[in-house]
Amino acid sequence: MERDASEPPDPVPSHRRAGPEGSLYGEFTDPLNDRLRYSVSLTERALTIQRISSSPTRTKVVFNLADCTGCRAHRGPDPADVGAYFTAWFYPFKRRWMSSGSARQRTEQCLRVAMLQDPVSNLQEAERWAGAIRDAAGLQAPRRDGVTYTEVRRPGRVMVLVNPHCGRGQALQLFTGQVEGMLTEAAVPYTLIITEHQNHARELVRKADLSQWDALVIMSGDGLLFEVINGLMEREDWQEAIRTPLGILPGGSGNALAASVHHYSQSPPAWNEELLLSCGFMLCKGLVGSLDLVSIHLASRQRLFSFLSLAWGFVADVDIESEKYRHVGAIRFLMGTLVRLASLRVYQGKLAYLPVKEAPAIPKGSIKANQPPSTPQHPSLCSSLPCRLIPNSSPNLNAHHNHNTTNCNHNTISNSPNNAITSKRTEIKSDGKTVVLVDSLLPGLEQPVPESWTVVKEEDFVLVLAIYQSHLAEDLWTAPGAMADDGLIHLFYVTAGISRPALLRLFLAMEKGAHLACGCPHLVYEKVKALRLEPITPQGVITVDGEMVEYGPVQAQIHPGLARLICG
Ligand code: ADP
Ligand code: MG
Repeated sequence: MERDASEPPDPVPSHRRAGPEGSLYGEFTDPLNDRLRYSVSLTERALTIQRISSSPTRTKVVFNLADCTGCRAHRGPDPADVGAYFTAWFYPFKRRWMSSGSARQRTEQCLRVAMLQDPVSNLQEAERWAGAIRDAAGLQAPRRDGVTYTEVRRPGRVMVLVNPHCGRGQALQLFTGQVEGMLTEAAVPYTLIITEHQNHARELVRKADLSQWDALVIMSGDGLLFEVINGLMEREDWQEAIRTPLGILPGGSGNALAASVHHYSQSPPAWNEELLLSCGFMLCKGLVGSLDLVSIHLASRQRLFSFLSLAWGFVADVDIESEKYRHVGAIRFLMGTLVRLASLRVYQGKLAYLPVKEAPAIPKGSIKANQPPSTPQHPSLCSSLPCRLIPNSSPNLNAHHNHNTTNCNHNTISNSPNNAITSKRTEIKSDGKTVVLVDSLLPGLEQPVPESWTVVKEEDFVLVLAIYQSHLAEDLWTAPGAMADDGLIHLFYVTAGISRPALLRLFLAMEKGAHLACGCPHLVYEKVKALRLEPITPQGVITVDGEMVEYGPVQAQIHPGLARLICG
């Protein structure tokens, strides 16, 4: 593909030459300076732009199409200009200006097409290139090894829900200032909806005609997504509704899912506007994966769906007490932690859980020496729930028993040492009209836990935290091995007797995901599929996804891959 301006002219017009295996080759100029000419080639993976000059050192820029969100052909501002243009947008990782590390940064590349004196032909050529770049970029997205994604596509019609009061109250400005332009460049059509009150989004998605939307995107903290997921699960057609791809853009003070999704994309840590840009990039690329949901039963028989966490004790108190510092952003949790540490409490209660059975040990030598024991293995993802239904005469939304239940094995995770029994299983029952999701692992809250469960001996806790994403907040990498669809509840608890400095050390180590390596005898970590917590302390706070729920006995079970999530 190397060509020099001094080479003899080619008999085929150079801008129309096709390169090897369907790649494109052309010569274009700089939009501001006609004398700067470039040879440009487009392959499946990259757009390469090389300055044409007689000098032996010719600058060459290679753009990875996995970083490209869009490309558009257009005329120039001067009507007399016969040239046409195409502009492509890329978000490659670049070194940060002021601090160490790298983050995605926006780059725009424009080229001028003026091979002919005819503006229409030039525009057609620019459109041909823009289309080819868009097609190639659509097929290329940054993927993780070993992960099969449901699909690669650009979301068609996106509903963007913004909570104007979350975080520092800047979500709307951040959306219009940072995200709108990205979506426009990527040609993602969206409708902006600003929530007017709490539960507005929940009511809206409960009633929405979902055939109109290809994705529901939340620009807020985790609380607004909690509303949306529960609104979807409250619908009669919940089974289809919950398959609507969900996207998250960090606008709140608690952006745990955004931080987790960014982490799953194997990108270096990012905060604030860099995190927003990363999530905006993933939205433009439109790669969809699976998201586990946890069904949570409260004493009043209410059932909630959770994507992030169930907390009691220290973490729940900090979550709710720190809401008054929401205006300071993500640092509210550190402030809340310090305040709570000063008045450290012990909470009494009973905890039991269904552990994940570890698969039999793999013979020596079959695992590479330095491979972590629980490398998450990703299942291939399914986009529908082709379950066989068994009619049932008594539909009960809070069904605890697994009679008349169909176990539909959608997908089984293959040979991961620790997750071997984690299968994609959605259990439903139906009376022919209503289809009900069954929590087959959970007995009634008033019944004893099954014998297969582990009952924790201690009854004095400082905290109990069940988390199913990697991050509890932007700075808290709480469950280092967790993935969006690992089918696991990562259960942590800290027993009474821990000193204030030791607890602070745990939270500080959590920033780097190093708390489990602190050797703290009061910290326990288990991978579980279901759990029950019965507080004895008469008053307190329980949170689900950072939102306060009814205080009292509570139990939960995982539903692997029930929802879908725009990720990277
Ligand atoms: P943050 O991370 O800042 O807490 P959240 O997304 O968690 O942001 O939202 C905080 C709370 O605001 C949630 O309980 C959510 O349900 C609620 N909420 C959503 N929209 C509105 C609104 N328009 N006015 C007031 N509260 C809202
Ligand atoms: Mg919140």
